[in-house]
Amino acid sequence: MSRPDPDRSADGVRTRAVRGPAANPGGASSIPLVHSATFSAPSLDASNAEQAAGASGAFYQRYGHPTISACERRLADLEGAEAALLFSSGMGAIANAFLALLQNGDHAVALDQCYGGTHELLRYGAAHFGWQVTFVDAREPATWAAAFRPNTRVFHVESPTNPTLCVVDLAAAASLAHAHGAQLTVDNTFASPIGQHPLALGADLSLYSATKSIGGHGDLMAGVACGSAELIAAVWKVRKLFGPIADPALAWQIERSLKTLPLRLDAMNAGALTLAGRLAGHQGVAQVFYPGLPGHPLHEVAVRQMRHGFGHVLAVEVKGGADAAKALIEAFRIVRLAPSLGSVESLASIPAFTSHVALGPEGRAKAGIPEGCVRISVGIEDPEDLWADLEQALTKAVPARV
Ligand code: PLP
Repeated sequence: MSRPDPDRSADGVRTRAVRGPAANPGGASSIPLVHSATFSAPSLDASNAEQAAGASGAFYQRYGHPTISACERRLADLEGAEAALLFSSGMGAIANAFLALLQNGDHAVALDQCYGGTHELLRYGAAHFGWQVTFVDAREPATWAAAFRPNTRVFHVESPTNPTLCVVDLAAAASLAHAHGAQLTVDNTFASPIGQHPLALGADLSLYSATKSIGGHGDLMAGVACGSAELIAAVWKVRKLFGPIADPALAWQIERSLKTLPLRLDAMNAGALTLAGRLAGHQGVAQVFYPGLPGHPLHEVAVRQMRHGFGHVLAVEVKGGADAAKALIEAFRIVRLAPSLGSVESLASIPAFTSHVALGPEGRAKAGIPEGCVRISVGIEDPEDLWADLEQALTKAVPARV
């Protein structure tokens, strides 16, 4: 069942991000950072009660701890979820979600365009855990239903996808999954918990690499899973057993970062929209991938489900192919050459050498990723400075080759 839309809360998103769902003990403006591997209790009954409380108890750090619980309450509140869990990486969150939902012999449908690590994880699960997996093309939603089987338990999507920013109609994907008795898991990393609310659109789990915009400063790794109390309890069991919980210092950093998430995203998303529009008119650019542009094939869906801008990631195909793409990212003065996204600083990478190197040229062509594709994660620098940087780099990289 869909969750209420957090955008309809009485308070605006900036207010909710700063204040959180509850006051901190002692009136502290920051949550307590409790560095303790274990927790003592006045009696065995009290100790047992903390153990039985699971994620929200204070029993042993791998089960849960006060700092992560405070952070998870704030994450759930922002997302409009009943419950949330924080992990030590995005892959920790995604892997634990799949381990909770898929048993030996179960089938999963996933987008061919999903994050490379997730693709590899599903193939690993097929080889080692008896999962069956079918990949479908994000650009061909009419073909997805045929991939479902009686034993399909998970439909895993991302929206927008990396790096060509395909958009998935999440409400339609949820209906499709549920009609086949499967759960919809959404990697919402590119949109963020502010930008898109998968649970309100019918998804069962909303997953993040919090290494990206949630952390937002390129200085940590973390992951998040949000969903119903029942599903999150199942994922918690896996986190407890496999162990990728976020430690207190990481949980504290994430909680602090959440307070500025809406502000950072407003700046990043606005910058990306400006740059995408200008790049679309540049003679050195063959095409721009960005859901905020009216020419994007699913722009209307993006308008409907991305409420606070169209994301901070865009991709361009530069004229001149792979050589021009390489020359471009080496010519930047402000934008840094690095493979991540969602940071306050702008980053650029060539998917053919980073996230999608394993696909090879044929696989990339099949997934619609041109060899001259450059992905840019727009940070919070002044958009005019970034535009000047893109222009000078394009001038250096492209004209001789066009
Ligand atoms: N999901 C997406 C969309 C990503 O881009 C990434 C990493 O780049 C991940 C998941 C994995 O997250 P992490 O690197 O935090 O494990």
